[in-house]
Amino acid sequence: MKVWFNQNSGGVFLSDENYNTAMLDDCGTLRDWIVCPICGSEGFLNEIHEDEDMNSIEMAECKEWWDDYTAERFPNKSKYSLV
Ligand SMILES: [Zn+2]
Repeated sequence: MKVWFNQNSGGVFLSDENYNTAMLDDCGTLRDWIVCPICGSEGFLNEIHEDEDMNSIEMAECKEWWDDYTAERFPNKSKYSLV
């Protein structure tokens, strides 16, 4: 487990050997910090891709990755409850 500080955002990050990263939010809660490998969009779970239309053709690859990611990470949750 590694802790690092982003001087630009003032955020404190934690990451493990699998590159899973978490960051403290404004309330001091540790939350998953996610980076999309397709488009580079990053943010908390509810923020990533939030400005994008995930049903558009341009976002098809992102959507595919996102569906896989959430299915693997949250196997018991509906993906629709995450966005
Ligand atoms: Zn993306």
